[in-house]
Amino acid sequence: MDENMSTNGDTENHSAMPIIIGLTIGLVLGLIANVIGVAGREVPATWVTTVVAVAQPIGRIFLRLMMMVVVPMVFAALALAVVEIGDVRKLGRMGLRTLLFTGIFSCAAVLIGMVLVNMFEPGKKLPVETRDRLLALYNPPKAEGDAKPTASAQQQQVETIKANAEKKKTIGEILVDMIPENPLQEMVGAVDGSSKGNGMLAVMVFSLIVGIAITMRMDDCQPLIGVLQSIQTVTTVIIEFALKLAPVGAGCLVFAITAQLGFEIVRTLAWFAGTVVLGLAIQLFVTYSIVIWTFGGMSPWYFFSNAAEAMLTAFSTSSSNATLPTAMRVAETDLKLPPAVSRFVLTVGATGNQNGTALYEGVVILFLAQVMGVELTLAQQLQVVLMAVLAGIGTAGVPGGSIPLIVVVMKSVGVPADSIGIILGVDRLLDMCRTVVNVMGDLAVAACVAKSEGRATTSPPTI
Ligand code: ASP
Repeated sequence: MDENMSTNGDTENHSAMPIIIGLTIGLVLGLIANVIGVAGREVPATWVTTVVAVAQPIGRIFLRLMMMVVVPMVFAALALAVVEIGDVRKLGRMGLRTLLFTGIFSCAAVLIGMVLVNMFEPGKKLPVETRDRLLALYNPPKAEGDAKPTASAQQQQVETIKANAEKKKTIGEILVDMIPENPLQEMVGAVDGSSKGNGMLAVMVFSLIVGIAITMRMDDCQPLIGVLQSIQTVTTVIIEFALKLAPVGAGCLVFAITAQLGFEIVRTLAWFAGTVVLGLAIQLFVTYSIVIWTFGGMSPWYFFSNAAEAMLTAFSTSSSNATLPTAMRVAETDLKLPPAVSRFVLTVGATGNQNGTALYEGVVILFLAQVMGVELTLAQQLQVVLMAVLAGIGTAGVPGGSIPLIVVVMKSVGVPADSIGIILGVDRLLDMCRTVVNVMGDLAVAACVAKSEGRATTSPPTI
Protein backbone atom coordinates (compact mmCIF):
# COMPACT_ATOMS: atom_id res chain seq x y z
CA MET A 1 0.00 0.00 0.00
CA ASP A 2 1.17 3.58 0.07
CA GLU A 3 4.11 4.81 2.06
CA ASN A 4 2.02 6.28 4.85
CA MET A 5 0.03 3.19 5.41
CA SER A 6 2.88 0.84 5.69
CA THR A 7 4.97 3.04 7.89
CA ASN A 8 2.41 4.58 10.20
CA GLY A 9 3.02 1.97 12.78
CA ASP A 10 6.78 2.51 12.68
CA THR A 11 6.72 6.06 13.85
CA GLU A 12 5.33 5.43 17.31
CA ASN A 13 6.62 3.00 19.80
CA HIS A 14 3.51 1.72 21.54
CA SER A 15 4.67 0.43 24.85
CA ALA A 16 2.04 -1.68 26.53
CA MET A 17 3.35 -0.79 29.99
CA PRO A 18 1.35 2.41 30.71
CA ILE A 19 -1.87 0.65 29.70
CA ILE A 20 -1.11 -2.36 31.83
CA ILE A 21 -0.38 -0.07 34.79
CA GLY A 22 -3.61 1.90 34.15
CA LEU A 23 -5.62 -1.29 33.96
CA THR A 24 -4.09 -2.77 37.09
CA ILE A 25 -4.81 0.41 39.06
CA GLY A 26 -8.39 0.49 37.71
CA LEU A 27 -8.89 -3.17 38.53
CA VAL A 28 -7.50 -3.02 42.06
CA LEU A 29 -9.32 0.22 42.98
CA GLY A 30 -12.51 -1.13 41.41
CA LEU A 31 -12.38 -4.34 43.42
CA ILE A 32 -11.65 -2.41 46.63
CA ALA A 33 -14.57 -0.07 45.90
CA ASN A 34 -16.79 -3.06 45.25
CA VAL A 35 -15.85 -4.75 48.52
CA ILE A 36 -16.44 -1.53 50.46
CA GLY A 37 -19.75 -1.05 48.67
CA VAL A 38 -20.88 -4.57 49.48
CA ALA A 39 -19.69 -4.27 53.07
CA GLY A 40 -21.72 -1.08 53.37
CA ARG A 41 -24.77 -3.09 52.24
CA GLU A 42 -25.53 -0.42 49.67
CA VAL A 43 -24.63 -1.78 46.28
CA PRO A 44 -23.00 0.35 45.09
CA ALA A 45 -22.40 2.67 48.06
CA THR A 46 -23.02 6.38 47.43
CA TRP A 47 -19.38 7.41 47.20
CA VAL A 48 -18.65 4.52 44.89
CA THR A 49 -21.51 5.69 42.67
CA THR A 50 -20.00 9.17 42.64
CA VAL A 51 -16.54 7.94 41.67
CA VAL A 52 -18.04 5.70 39.01
CA ALA A 53 -20.01 8.65 37.67
CA VAL A 54 -16.70 10.45 37.12
CA ALA A 55 -14.75 7.46 35.83
CA GLN A 56 -17.34 6.30 33.33
CA PRO A 57 -17.46 9.48 31.20
CA ILE A 58 -13.66 9.49 30.96
CA GLY A 59 -13.79 5.93 29.66
CA ARG A 60 -16.51 6.92 27.23
CA ILE A 61 -14.52 9.82 25.79
CA PHE A 62 -11.75 7.35 25.04
CA LEU A 63 -14.27 5.10 23.26
CA ARG A 64 -15.79 7.94 21.27
CA LEU A 65 -12.43 9.02 19.92
CA MET A 66 -12.21 5.56 18.41
CA MET A 67 -15.82 5.49 17.28
CA MET A 68 -15.67 8.78 15.40
CA VAL A 69 -13.26 7.37 12.84
CA VAL A 70 -15.02 4.08 12.13
CA VAL A 71 -16.90 4.91 8.96
CA PRO A 72 -14.14 6.86 7.18
CA MET A 73 -11.58 4.29 8.27
CA VAL A 74 -13.52 1.30 6.94
CA PHE A 75 -14.43 3.08 3.72
CA ALA A 76 -10.87 4.15 2.93
CA ALA A 77 -9.19 0.93 4.06
CA LEU A 78 -11.43 -1.43 2.11
CA ALA A 79 -11.50 0.65 -1.06
CA LEU A 80 -7.71 0.97 -0.95
CA ALA A 81 -7.26 -2.74 -0.27
CA VAL A 82 -9.12 -3.46 -3.51
CA VAL A 83 -7.17 -0.79 -5.36
CA GLU A 84 -3.96 -2.40 -4.17
CA ILE A 85 -5.04 -5.82 -5.37
CA GLY A 86 -6.40 -4.34 -8.60
CA ASP A 87 -3.08 -2.67 -9.15
CA VAL A 88 -1.29 -5.94 -9.11
CA ARG A 89 -3.82 -7.71 -11.24
CA LYS A 90 -1.20 -7.14 -13.87
CA LEU A 91 0.88 -9.54 -11.89
CA GLY A 92 -1.78 -12.09 -12.75
CA ARG A 93 -2.26 -15.14 -10.62
CA MET A 94 -0.27 -13.85 -7.67
CA GLY A 95 -2.94 -11.36 -6.63
CA LEU A 96 -5.68 -13.96 -6.92
CA ARG A 97 -3.72 -16.55 -4.99
CA THR A 98 -3.02 -14.07 -2.23
CA LEU A 99 -6.73 -13.36 -2.07
CA LEU A 100 -7.57 -17.06 -2.03
CA PHE A 101 -5.21 -17.94 0.83
CA THR A 102 -6.28 -14.83 2.75
CA GLY A 103 -9.90 -15.93 2.39
CA ILE A 104 -9.15 -19.49 3.54
CA PHE A 105 -7.20 -18.28 6.59
CA SER A 106 -9.81 -15.70 7.58
CA CYS A 107 -12.76 -18.10 7.30
CA ALA A 108 -10.89 -20.80 9.25
CA ALA A 109 -10.03 -18.25 11.95
CA VAL A 110 -13.55 -16.91 12.40
CA LEU A 111 -15.04 -20.41 12.42
CA ILE A 112 -12.57 -21.60 15.08
CA GLY A 113 -13.50 -18.59 17.22
CA MET A 114 -17.23 -19.12 16.76
CA VAL A 115 -17.03 -22.83 17.62
CA LEU A 116 -15.01 -22.15 20.78
CA VAL A 117 -17.19 -19.32 22.02
CA ASN A 118 -20.32 -21.43 21.47
CA MET A 119 -18.65 -24.38 23.16
CA PHE A 120 -17.32 -22.64 26.29
CA GLU A 121 -19.99 -19.91 26.43
CA PRO A 122 -17.72 -17.62 28.48
CA GLY A 123 -20.36 -14.87 28.54
CA LYS A 124 -22.85 -17.12 30.30
CA LYS A 125 -20.58 -17.62 33.30
CA LEU A 126 -22.05 -14.42 34.74
CA PRO A 127 -24.91 -14.90 37.23
CA VAL A 128 -28.24 -13.54 35.91
CA GLU A 129 -28.46 -10.98 38.70
CA THR A 130 -25.00 -9.58 37.88
CA ARG A 131 -25.92 -9.54 34.21
CA ASP A 132 -28.97 -7.42 34.94
CA ARG A 133 -26.79 -4.94 36.77
CA LEU A 134 -24.51 -4.86 33.74
CA LEU A 135 -27.45 -4.13 31.48
CA ALA A 136 -28.46 -1.29 33.74
CA LEU A 137 -24.88 -0.01 33.62
CA TYR A 138 -24.79 0.08 29.83
CA ASN A 139 -28.35 1.30 29.30
CA PRO A 140 -28.51 3.99 31.98
CA PRO A 141 -31.96 5.46 32.73
CA LYS A 142 -32.48 8.78 30.97
CA ALA A 143 -34.63 10.59 33.57
CA GLU A 144 -32.77 12.65 36.12
CA GLY A 145 -32.91 11.41 39.65
CA ASP A 146 -33.75 7.95 38.41
CA ALA A 147 -30.30 6.76 39.33
CA LYS A 148 -31.25 3.20 40.20
CA PRO A 149 -33.27 1.40 37.58
CA THR A 150 -36.07 -0.73 38.97
CA ALA A 151 -36.24 -4.44 38.29
CA SER A 152 -38.97 -3.90 35.70
CA ALA A 153 -36.95 -1.14 33.98
CA GLN A 154 -34.04 -3.56 33.74
CA GLN A 155 -36.33 -6.22 32.40
CA GLN A 156 -37.57 -3.75 29.80
CA GLN A 157 -34.00 -3.05 28.70
CA VAL A 158 -33.36 -6.76 28.32
CA GLU A 159 -36.52 -7.03 26.24
CA THR A 160 -35.55 -4.11 24.00
CA ILE A 161 -32.16 -5.61 23.33
CA LYS A 162 -33.68 -8.99 22.63
CA ALA A 163 -36.27 -7.44 20.33
CA ASN A 164 -33.49 -5.76 18.37
CA ALA A 165 -31.64 -9.02 18.06
CA GLU A 166 -34.76 -10.87 17.03
CA LYS A 167 -35.55 -8.63 14.09
CA LYS A 168 -35.18 -11.77 12.06
CA LYS A 169 -34.23 -11.46 8.43
CA THR A 170 -34.06 -14.30 5.99
CA ILE A 171 -30.68 -15.05 4.41
CA GLY A 172 -32.13 -13.66 1.15
CA GLU A 173 -33.02 -10.36 2.81
CA ILE A 174 -29.59 -10.12 4.40
CA LEU A 175 -27.99 -10.62 0.98
CA VAL A 176 -30.15 -7.96 -0.70
CA ASP A 177 -29.56 -5.54 2.18
CA MET A 178 -25.83 -5.90 1.70
CA ILE A 179 -26.21 -3.65 -1.35
CA PRO A 180 -27.01 -0.22 0.08
CA GLU A 181 -29.86 1.76 -1.39
CA ASN A 182 -28.40 4.91 0.09
CA PRO A 183 -24.77 4.51 1.26
CA LEU A 184 -24.85 7.73 3.28
CA GLN A 185 -27.92 6.58 5.16
CA GLU A 186 -26.22 3.25 5.87
CA MET A 187 -23.12 5.08 7.12
CA VAL A 188 -25.21 7.02 9.62
CA GLY A 189 -27.29 3.96 10.46
CA ALA A 190 -24.18 1.83 11.01
CA VAL A 191 -23.21 4.11 13.88
CA ASP A 192 -26.54 5.02 15.49
CA GLY A 193 -28.31 1.74 14.82
CA SER A 194 -31.01 3.32 12.63
CA SER A 195 -29.94 1.59 9.45
CA LYS A 196 -32.69 0.50 7.06
CA GLY A 197 -30.53 -2.10 5.45
CA ASN A 198 -27.48 -3.90 6.72
CA GLY A 199 -25.56 -0.99 8.24
CA MET A 200 -21.85 -1.61 8.34
CA LEU A 201 -21.96 -4.62 6.07
CA ALA A 202 -23.62 -2.47 3.41
CA VAL A 203 -20.96 0.21 3.93
CA MET A 204 -18.28 -2.43 3.50
CA VAL A 205 -19.81 -3.69 0.28
CA PHE A 206 -20.12 -0.11 -0.97
CA SER A 207 -16.41 0.44 -0.23
CA LEU A 208 -15.46 -2.72 -2.10
CA ILE A 209 -17.54 -1.64 -5.11
CA VAL A 210 -15.92 1.82 -5.09
CA GLY A 211 -12.50 0.12 -4.93
CA ILE A 212 -13.34 -2.12 -7.88
CA ALA A 213 -14.63 0.87 -9.89
CA ILE A 214 -11.40 2.77 -9.19
CA THR A 215 -9.31 -0.10 -10.54
CA MET A 216 -11.25 0.12 -13.82
CA ARG A 217 -10.12 3.75 -14.36
CA MET A 218 -6.95 3.81 -12.37
CA ASP A 219 -5.37 6.74 -14.22
CA ASP A 220 -8.40 9.01 -13.93
CA CYS A 221 -8.86 8.19 -10.25
CA GLN A 222 -5.42 9.11 -8.92
CA PRO A 223 -6.77 12.18 -7.06
CA LEU A 224 -9.43 10.03 -5.36
CA ILE A 225 -6.81 7.44 -4.38
CA GLY A 226 -4.79 10.29 -2.84
CA VAL A 227 -7.83 11.44 -0.85
CA LEU A 228 -8.52 7.92 0.39
CA GLN A 229 -4.89 7.53 1.45
CA SER A 230 -5.07 10.81 3.35
CA ILE A 231 -8.30 9.76 5.06
CA GLN A 232 -6.61 6.57 6.13
CA THR A 233 -3.63 8.45 7.51
CA VAL A 234 -5.83 10.89 9.43
CA THR A 235 -7.95 8.11 10.97
CA THR A 236 -4.81 6.29 12.05
CA VAL A 237 -3.50 9.46 13.71
CA ILE A 238 -6.81 9.93 15.57
CA ILE A 239 -6.59 6.36 16.86
CA GLU A 240 -3.09 7.22 18.06
CA PHE A 241 -4.61 10.15 20.01
CA ALA A 242 -7.14 7.80 21.56
CA LEU A 243 -4.41 5.38 22.50
CA LYS A 244 -2.58 8.16 24.34
CA LEU A 245 -5.67 8.35 26.55
CA ALA A 246 -5.83 4.59 26.80
CA PRO A 247 -4.06 4.11 30.15
CA VAL A 248 -6.51 6.48 31.86
CA GLY A 249 -9.52 5.67 29.65
CA ALA A 250 -9.25 1.89 29.87
CA GLY A 251 -8.36 2.15 33.59
CA CYS A 252 -11.55 4.16 34.21
CA LEU A 253 -13.67 1.70 32.26
CA VAL A 254 -12.27 -1.23 34.22
CA PHE A 255 -12.76 0.64 37.49
CA ALA A 256 -16.39 1.44 36.66
CA ILE A 257 -17.15 -2.18 35.83
CA THR A 258 -15.32 -3.88 38.69
CA ALA A 259 -16.57 -1.35 41.26
CA GLN A 260 -20.11 -2.39 40.41
CA LEU A 261 -19.69 -6.04 39.60
CA GLY A 262 -16.65 -7.16 41.58
CA PHE A 263 -14.97 -10.52 41.12
CA GLU A 264 -17.78 -11.98 39.01
CA ILE A 265 -16.75 -9.93 36.02
CA VAL A 266 -13.05 -10.70 36.50
CA ARG A 267 -13.82 -14.43 36.42
CA THR A 268 -15.98 -14.04 33.31
CA LEU A 269 -13.23 -12.04 31.60
CA ALA A 270 -10.70 -14.74 32.43
CA TRP A 271 -12.92 -17.24 30.59
CA PHE A 272 -13.22 -14.84 27.67
CA ALA A 273 -9.46 -14.25 27.46
CA GLY A 274 -8.81 -18.00 27.73
CA THR A 275 -11.22 -18.68 24.84
CA VAL A 276 -9.54 -16.06 22.64
CA VAL A 277 -6.02 -17.26 23.40
CA LEU A 278 -7.00 -20.89 22.76
CA GLY A 279 -8.58 -19.92 19.42
CA LEU A 280 -5.52 -17.91 18.40
CA ALA A 281 -3.21 -20.76 19.39
CA ILE A 282 -5.23 -23.24 17.29
CA GLN A 283 -5.14 -20.88 14.32
CA LEU A 284 -1.41 -20.24 14.72
CA PHE A 285 -0.14 -23.73 15.40
CA VAL A 286 -2.75 -25.99 13.78
CA THR A 287 -4.25 -24.11 10.80
CA TYR A 288 -0.99 -22.46 9.76
CA SER A 289 1.00 -25.68 10.21
CA ILE A 290 -1.43 -27.67 8.04
CA VAL A 291 -1.54 -25.01 5.32
CA ILE A 292 2.21 -24.35 5.39
CA TRP A 293 2.91 -28.06 5.14
CA THR A 294 0.29 -28.74 2.44
CA PHE A 295 0.46 -25.65 0.24
CA GLY A 296 3.74 -24.06 1.24
CA GLY A 297 5.91 -27.19 1.03
CA MET A 298 7.60 -26.05 4.23
CA SER A 299 7.95 -27.83 7.55
CA PRO A 300 6.05 -26.03 10.33
CA TRP A 301 9.13 -26.31 12.55
CA TYR A 302 11.26 -24.51 9.95
CA PHE A 303 8.54 -21.88 9.54
CA PHE A 304 8.05 -21.08 13.22
CA SER A 305 11.67 -21.29 14.30
CA ASN A 306 12.80 -18.95 11.54
CA ALA A 307 9.99 -16.47 12.06
CA ALA A 308 10.55 -16.04 15.81
CA GLU A 309 11.82 -12.48 15.40
CA ALA A 310 8.68 -11.38 13.54
CA MET A 311 6.52 -13.00 16.24
CA LEU A 312 8.35 -11.17 19.02
CA THR A 313 8.13 -7.83 17.22
CA ALA A 314 4.41 -8.29 16.57
CA PHE A 315 3.85 -9.25 20.21
CA SER A 316 5.70 -6.27 21.60
CA THR A 317 4.33 -3.61 19.21
CA SER A 318 0.73 -4.90 18.78
CA SER A 319 0.93 -3.48 15.29
CA SER A 320 1.10 -5.30 11.95
CA ASN A 321 2.24 -2.06 10.30
CA ALA A 322 5.07 -1.57 12.77
CA THR A 323 6.13 -5.20 12.26
CA LEU A 324 6.16 -4.93 8.47
CA PRO A 325 9.88 -4.12 8.06
CA THR A 326 10.87 -6.98 10.39
CA ALA A 327 8.46 -9.37 8.67
CA MET A 328 9.95 -8.49 5.28
CA ARG A 329 13.46 -9.10 6.49
CA VAL A 330 12.47 -12.39 8.11
CA ALA A 331 10.70 -13.52 4.92
CA GLU A 332 13.69 -12.83 2.72
CA THR A 333 16.63 -13.60 5.01
CA ASP A 334 15.36 -16.32 7.34
CA LEU A 335 12.53 -18.01 5.44
CA LYS A 336 14.33 -17.43 2.13
CA LEU A 337 11.18 -16.42 0.29
CA PRO A 338 11.54 -14.62 -3.05
CA PRO A 339 11.38 -10.85 -2.41
CA ALA A 340 9.00 -10.19 -5.32
CA VAL A 341 6.39 -12.39 -3.66
CA SER A 342 7.02 -11.62 0.00
CA ARG A 343 7.11 -7.84 -0.41
CA PHE A 344 3.80 -7.82 -2.23
CA VAL A 345 2.01 -10.30 0.05
CA LEU A 346 3.30 -8.79 3.30
CA THR A 347 2.47 -5.23 2.31
CA VAL A 348 -1.08 -6.09 1.30
CA GLY A 349 -1.42 -8.44 4.26
CA ALA A 350 -0.38 -5.90 6.94
CA THR A 351 -3.75 -4.26 6.37
CA GLY A 352 -5.76 -6.80 4.42
CA ASN A 353 -4.97 -10.16 6.01
CA GLN A 354 -5.67 -10.00 9.71
CA ASN A 355 -7.15 -13.32 10.60
CA GLY A 356 -6.18 -13.18 14.28
CA THR A 357 -8.21 -9.99 14.40
CA ALA A 358 -11.10 -11.59 12.49
CA LEU A 359 -11.17 -14.44 15.03
CA TYR A 360 -11.11 -11.97 17.90
CA GLU A 361 -13.89 -9.84 16.46
CA GLY A 362 -16.19 -12.86 16.09
CA VAL A 363 -15.47 -14.06 19.63
CA VAL A 364 -15.95 -10.62 21.21
CA ILE A 365 -19.33 -10.08 19.59
CA LEU A 366 -20.68 -13.48 20.56
CA PHE A 367 -19.21 -13.18 24.04
CA LEU A 368 -20.80 -9.78 24.66
CA ALA A 369 -24.09 -11.03 23.22
CA GLN A 370 -23.95 -13.87 25.76
CA VAL A 371 -23.07 -11.49 28.58
CA MET A 372 -25.93 -9.15 27.70
CA GLY A 373 -28.38 -12.02 27.28
CA VAL A 374 -28.89 -11.44 23.56
CA GLU A 375 -29.63 -14.67 21.66
CA LEU A 376 -28.30 -14.43 18.13
CA THR A 377 -30.13 -16.36 15.43
CA LEU A 378 -28.18 -18.53 12.98
CA ALA A 379 -28.62 -15.88 10.28
CA GLN A 380 -27.20 -13.26 12.67
CA GLN A 381 -24.27 -15.50 13.55
CA LEU A 382 -23.56 -15.91 9.82
CA GLN A 383 -23.76 -12.15 9.49
CA VAL A 384 -21.18 -11.86 12.28
CA VAL A 385 -18.91 -14.34 10.46
CA LEU A 386 -19.11 -12.38 7.23
CA MET A 387 -18.62 -9.05 8.94
CA ALA A 388 -15.70 -10.38 10.99
CA VAL A 389 -13.98 -11.60 7.82
CA LEU A 390 -14.52 -8.24 6.12
CA ALA A 391 -13.60 -6.35 9.28
CA GLY A 392 -10.35 -8.31 9.35
CA ILE A 393 -9.64 -6.83 5.93
CA GLY A 394 -10.72 -3.32 6.93
CA THR A 395 -8.85 -3.14 10.25
CA ALA A 396 -5.87 -0.80 10.39
CA GLY A 397 -2.70 -2.61 11.42
CA VAL A 398 -2.23 -0.48 14.53
CA PRO A 399 -2.77 -1.24 18.23
CA GLY A 400 -6.49 -1.33 19.01
CA GLY A 401 -7.33 -0.95 15.30
CA SER A 402 -10.16 -3.46 15.56
CA ILE A 403 -12.09 -1.84 18.43
CA PRO A 404 -14.09 0.66 16.34
CA LEU A 405 -15.12 -2.08 13.93
CA ILE A 406 -16.18 -4.40 16.72
CA VAL A 407 -18.47 -1.70 18.10
CA VAL A 408 -20.17 -1.28 14.76
CA VAL A 409 -20.72 -5.03 14.26
CA MET A 410 -22.12 -5.20 17.80
CA LYS A 411 -24.65 -2.51 17.02
CA SER A 412 -25.73 -4.22 13.86
CA VAL A 413 -26.74 -7.35 15.77
CA GLY A 414 -28.35 -5.57 18.72
CA VAL A 415 -25.60 -5.73 21.36
CA PRO A 416 -25.28 -2.41 23.31
CA ALA A 417 -22.21 -0.60 21.99
CA ASP A 418 -21.01 0.69 25.35
CA SER A 419 -20.69 -2.85 26.64
CA ILE A 420 -17.42 -2.99 24.68
CA GLY A 421 -16.03 -1.43 27.87
CA ILE A 422 -16.30 -4.87 29.48
CA ILE A 423 -13.50 -6.30 27.36
CA LEU A 424 -11.31 -3.24 26.98
CA GLY A 425 -9.49 -4.13 30.16
CA VAL A 426 -8.04 -7.25 28.61
CA ASP A 427 -7.96 -5.98 25.04
CA ARG A 428 -4.40 -4.76 25.03
CA LEU A 429 -2.99 -8.09 26.11
CA LEU A 430 -5.11 -9.94 23.57
CA ASP A 431 -4.07 -7.38 20.94
CA MET A 432 -0.46 -8.48 21.42
CA CYS A 433 -1.48 -12.11 20.84
CA ARG A 434 -3.72 -11.53 17.83
CA THR A 435 -1.12 -9.34 16.13
CA VAL A 436 1.30 -12.30 16.25
CA VAL A 437 -1.35 -14.40 14.47
CA ASN A 438 -1.95 -11.60 11.94
CA VAL A 439 1.73 -11.25 11.05
CA MET A 440 2.37 -15.00 10.94
CA GLY A 441 -0.69 -15.31 8.69
CA ASP A 442 0.93 -12.90 6.24
CA LEU A 443 4.16 -14.90 6.27
CA ALA A 444 2.23 -18.16 5.80
CA VAL A 445 0.34 -16.71 2.83
CA ALA A 446 3.65 -15.48 1.38
CA ALA A 447 5.14 -18.97 1.69
CA CYS A 448 2.11 -20.58 0.04
CA VAL A 449 1.96 -18.05 -2.79
CA ALA A 450 5.72 -18.42 -3.37
CA LYS A 451 5.33 -22.18 -3.64
CA SER A 452 2.30 -21.99 -5.92
CA GLU A 453 4.12 -19.51 -8.15
CA GLY A 454 6.70 -22.22 -8.59
CA ARG A 455 9.38 -19.98 -7.11
CA ALA A 456 11.23 -22.24 -4.77
CA THR A 457 12.74 -20.80 -1.65
CA THR A 458 16.49 -20.36 -1.91
CA SER A 459 17.22 -23.14 0.56
CA PRO A 460 15.45 -26.46 1.12
CA PRO A 461 12.63 -25.59 3.54
CA THR A 462 11.52 -29.05 4.63
CA ILE A 463 14.06 -29.42 7.44
N1 ASP B 1 -3.28 -4.64 16.46
C1 ASP B 1 -3.75 -5.42 15.34
C2 ASP B 1 -2.71 -5.40 14.24
O1 ASP B 1 -2.01 -4.45 14.09
C3 ASP B 1 -5.07 -4.91 14.84
C4 ASP B 1 -6.15 -5.15 15.87
O2 ASP B 1 -6.62 -6.29 15.93
O3 ASP B 1 -6.50 -4.27 16.64
O4 ASP B 1 -2.60 -6.34 13.49
